[in-house]
Amino acid sequence: MSRIIYADHAATTALSPAALEAMTPYLTQQYGNPSSLYRFGQQAKAGLEDARTRIAACLGAEADEVYFTSGGTEADNWAIRGVLEAQAKKGNHVITSAIEHHAVLHTLDALARQGLCQVTQVGVDAQGRVNPEEVRAALRPDTVLISIMAANNEIGTIEPVAEIGAIARQAGVLFHTDAVQAVGHIPVQVNDWKVDLLSLSGHKFHGPRGIGALYVRKPLRLPPLIFGGGQEKGRRSGTEYVAGAVGMAAALQEAVGQMETEGRRLSALRDRLIDGILSQVPRSSLTGPRENRLPGTASFVFACVEGESILLRLDSRGVCASSGSACSSASLDPSHVLLSIGLPHEVAHGSLRLSLGRETTAEDVDDLLTIIPEVVAGLRAMSPLWCEN
Ligand code: PLP
Repeated sequence: MSRIIYADHAATTALSPAALEAMTPYLTQQYGNPSSLYRFGQQAKAGLEDARTRIAACLGAEADEVYFTSGGTEADNWAIRGVLEAQAKKGNHVITSAIEHHAVLHTLDALARQGLCQVTQVGVDAQGRVNPEEVRAALRPDTVLISIMAANNEIGTIEPVAEIGAIARQAGVLFHTDAVQAVGHIPVQVNDWKVDLLSLSGHKFHGPRGIGALYVRKPLRLPPLIFGGGQEKGRRSGTEYVAGAVGMAAALQEAVGQMETEGRRLSALRDRLIDGILSQVPRSSLTGPRENRLPGTASFVFACVEGESILLRLDSRGVCASSGSACSSASLDPSHVLLSIGLPHEVAHGSLRLSLGRETTAEDVDDLLTIIPEVVAGLRAMSPLWCEN
């Protein structure tokens, strides 16, 4: 195997050199505990607060609206559980979409099983887009939360969050968006989107793993999900991961700074990849829309092949890719996202997500366009089900 082609940036990304450089002092010299009163601890605290201010600025938020978490999963769990607890007097109805990440869907399932919430899942169209009018129609007097993702992790669809935010605001219902795949990749401004809560995760934009944040619009105060020493103004206990916060801030500023040029470069590579796959692989289709998709994400289904078999063959040729989301690719069930866009089970099994990113070169795309048609043809040659049309 000569070289690796990393085409799984939606799963995770490499720590950027700028983020590593920003983190290093907090891992080596300035390792004080930000809760300690002596100067050494307060220097770490200053680093943490500076990171908070810089992250808030990237989102058009205020520093005291940003709470650090262990990642996107915790931020999603906290947003949902926190709102349900805070608004228990008003009701417990939540509107979400059928294509959310499992951090949202499984949290809601668990709460519904305990009788702690009632959930309406709005469907999506064949491109994975939520219709804001369906969200409006699902509103009830006891609705306390709308949770709709900003961009889908499997098929890259960008959702109409600003329109949904306007509906939520008009109805006086809190709006949470899981923006884990959006932040650092497309413009995210909390006021333009009228969101009250927004989840993000450092490792999706070349920051470190194990750090994320939840934006909580003032004056909303969420009850804690995690109890302990009272860090994060008593809202999220646990000794702060200062180096992580500092690294995430550096990575986000870098990603936002190069978003326009990098977005254009990646969209061009992505479109060349999509056109090439669709023209070279018979009975292949794009999942998600042509326009309005994340700049780096190209996702497909191929008739008469299993996504897992494609992944294994691609791995043997040095290609890192995914079928559906990284988190669920261990399971053999077809992706809930692909079923929700109307694909039959047998088609949804043949999925492949290629997510390009900062390291991706034009040569990588050339190689993907050689390797993928060969791999799919090789698997189909062994399949009794395969026929050209
Ligand atoms: N939400 C979305 C849309 C994601 O894609 C992911 C990760 O793949 C998560 C949430 C979970 O984030 P984390 O890995 O930081 O827990």
